[in-house]
Amino acid sequence: MTLPATHMPGALTIDVEEHFHVHAFAGVIDRADWHRHESRVEASTDRILRIFDDAGVHGTFFTLGCVADAHPALVRRIVEAGHELASHGQAHRAVFDQSRDAFFEDVRRSRLTLEDTGGASVRGYRAPSFSIDARSPWAYEALAEAGYAYSSSSHPIDHDLYGDPDAPRHPFREPSAGMLEIPVTTLLWRGRRVPAAGGGFFRLFPLALTRLAMARMRGEAVPPNFYLHPWEVDPGQPRIKDAPLKSRFRHTVGLARCEGKLRRLVGSGPWTRMDEAYHGWLDDAWRGDGDGRADGDAALAG
Ligand SMILES: [Zn+2]
Repeated sequence: MTLPATHMPGALTIDVEEHFHVHAFAGVIDRADWHRHESRVEASTDRILRIFDDAGVHGTFFTLGCVADAHPALVRRIVEAGHELASHGQAHRAVFDQSRDAFFEDVRRSRLTLEDTGGASVRGYRAPSFSIDARSPWAYEALAEAGYAYSSSSHPIDHDLYGDPDAPRHPFREPSAGMLEIPVTTLLWRGRRVPAAGGGFFRLFPLALTRLAMARMRGEAVPPNFYLHPWEVDPGQPRIKDAPLKSRFRHTVGLARCEGKLRRLVGSGPWTRMDEAYHGWLDDAWRGDGDGRADGDAALAG
């Protein structure tokens, strides 16, 4: 890495899903009823595409296969704008709630769906709700078999629903399959890990804290990894009234200000796609996949 740390581009990542797909609402919204809810993902993702375009930056869009099935033109807009198309799985099931076979089928199908729809190679995967953990020791092997080169499915914090506060904070090769895992950025503060690099934490905390987390990670010679969902820039979404208070708070806190905050964060880069931000880590994985490189991959190899 020859760039000074302050000029090291971070990865801007978006998990493309509907507001009613989130696991916090699973107790009150049955997946069999998803089709009854108003689809808002296309309009809110377009809002994010506009923000990135205005700032002249690219990002990575971890897109659900079921969203690609329902909104193929959105997937094509993501690719045509120069962003990396990646997978958030097919049906937004937590990895640890699936068998190995069901998980393999979910990630294989989503990759094929996205590649067919977008006409671009899909190499990256992000688990719904960062749900790869000790309950799914086969996950990385299954991802490698399904043709993925990297995962960004770890948010190594102390959280009631996911995360391992002892998992690595920097990118690492997972030992069983050699898969590259790129954790979401955390901020070290007095020996503790503070989550400030996306989602509800980004909406809740001051923007300065997120900027500090990004700057510190660059200081550790690692590109920062930021994440958000399209529904987080959609303050007009219908409220899910029957959900538990904690889930409703987490889902709605700071929604009204989020688009403006994102605009300021994106405008003060540098930012890029995940496959470009981490290309130095990714090359081995891409060389090792043995099935040839997709268009555009060669540019990263240099
Ligand atoms: Zn998700």
